Amino acid sequence: MDEDKKRSHNERMQRKKAVVDAGIERAQIERGVVVLITGNGKGKSTSAFGTLYRALGHGQRAGAVQFIKGTQASGEVIYLQQHAPLVDYHAMATGFTWNTQDWDQDKAAADEAWAAAARMLADARLHLVVLDELTYMLKYNYLDAASVVAAIRARPSHQHVIITGRAAKPELVELADTVSEIRDVKHAFSAGVKGQAGLDF
Ligand code: ATP
Ligand code: MG
Repeated sequence: MDEDKKRSHNERMQRKKAVVDAGIERAQIERGVVVLITGNGKGKSTSAFGTLYRALGHGQRAGAVQFIKGTQASGEVIYLQQHAPLVDYHAMATGFTWNTQDWDQDKAAADEAWAAAARMLADARLHLVVLDELTYMLKYNYLDAASVVAAIRARPSHQHVIITGRAAKPELVELADTVSEIRDVKHAFSAGVKGQAGLDF
């Protein structure tokens, strides 16, 4: 690179740094944040559990409720059950199915899982509560959106909440402070690659 280009690059980076530094200076509020990770791409639940492990690294307590129990236990949950006593974990009792034959049974399971979530949202010892796949409980009307939003709003002020799942209702988007939509650009499954332990569950 010639000297002129190097100089203008350095000047550009300095201006960028000034903008970033001013932004960091402005952001002084410390409080609990609601993060919503939605969209059709892969990476929602793994992001939520990645953040949970991040909190544990700082010695914080966390809770997690899984609103859809897969047929196979996911590796992150197996690991935290074996190695993470600081995590309060609850899984919904029945495997929710898309073509459910028994709405009453699924509704009871959703209510029971929500009771565990509500308990965690009232527990000031928990720095972080993960509500994995919660979006579907609202989308299919197993849980009332207004009650869910009210309980999340009433949580201890320092507590973070991460909600995952596709098709988040507008009430959840409105509630959340940070919303990321993960877009499905491509997925190995479409090329015939099966879901594999350690990557997909
Ligand atoms: P992950 O748990 O890997 O972070 P996710 O939470 O974003 O995924 P879900 O909709 O909960 O996605 O589905 C979980 C499972 O479905 C995972 O095995 C994942 O690899 C797979 N999956 C996610 N997105 C897609 C997709 N767009 N096409 C096919 N399979 C997908
Ligand atoms: Mg998921």
